[in-house]
Amino acid sequence: MSKIIIAIDGYSSCGKSTLAKQIARELNYIYIDTGAMYRAVTLYALRNKLLSDTEFNEPGLIDSLDRINVSFSYNSELNRSETFLGNENIEQEIRGIEVSSHVSRIAQVKEVRAKLVEIQREIGGDKGLVMDGRDIGTVVFPNAELKIFMTAHYKIRAQRRFDELQAKGDDVSYEEILNNITSRDNDDTSRSENPLIKADDAIVIDNSEITQDEQLKIALRHVSNTLTP
Ligand code: C5P
Repeated sequence: MSKIIIAIDGYSSCGKSTLAKQIARELNYIYIDTGAMYRAVTLYALRNKLLSDTEFNEPGLIDSLDRINVSFSYNSELNRSETFLGNENIEQEIRGIEVSSHVSRIAQVKEVRAKLVEIQREIGGDKGLVMDGRDIGTVVFPNAELKIFMTAHYKIRAQRRFDELQAKGDDVSYEEILNNITSRDNDDTSRSENPLIKADDAIVIDNSEITQDEQLKIALRHVSNTLTP
């Protein structure tokens, strides 16, 4: 059967990666989480004092870009792909509120986007790929055979993320998460470089009121329509 590229875009915390992983597992495709790449660059900037709550040394970060090495490695024990900065596994650290609350600033930088988009296109050179992010169907793979745009009510997204972080033992309040989600929505949709917009040919899945199984069924129906129109 021929292989395709599936681009999944949408708002923060609306389950893009959950759906992308489910589809990749069903089809035996590669899954790439592009948000993790922006998060990795953010962690680098924070650690190297290029970025703080009050200051951002943007030229310094741009100068460092060639030294920032982001990659993924499959952990067969945990059955998941993990993000690396150089040789260090940063999968846990990039999911915390510190990185989440600074990442959209980094995602506005044209040079950062150019570097990451180039890597994403290299990874996706071969088909059989599910990639999720904000600009996959519009910029990274505008010719992707199937584009999905995901959304859910912001309060539902905040509650889901809160439950997830609580289960991991993170000390973070619901209000903090709600603020983070609404401000990232705002930053992602209003930035000048590759803002989050629905591609004209994307199908929309609003998962506010549906289960993960239901959303997978909907997506797989679209996959099969795309493979056998
Ligand atoms: O998907 P995730 O929430 O992990 O992404 C983190 C941040 O990275 C987003 O809030 C967005 O600002 C940025 N991002 C982006 N373009 C992508 C993926 C993520 O700007 N393709």
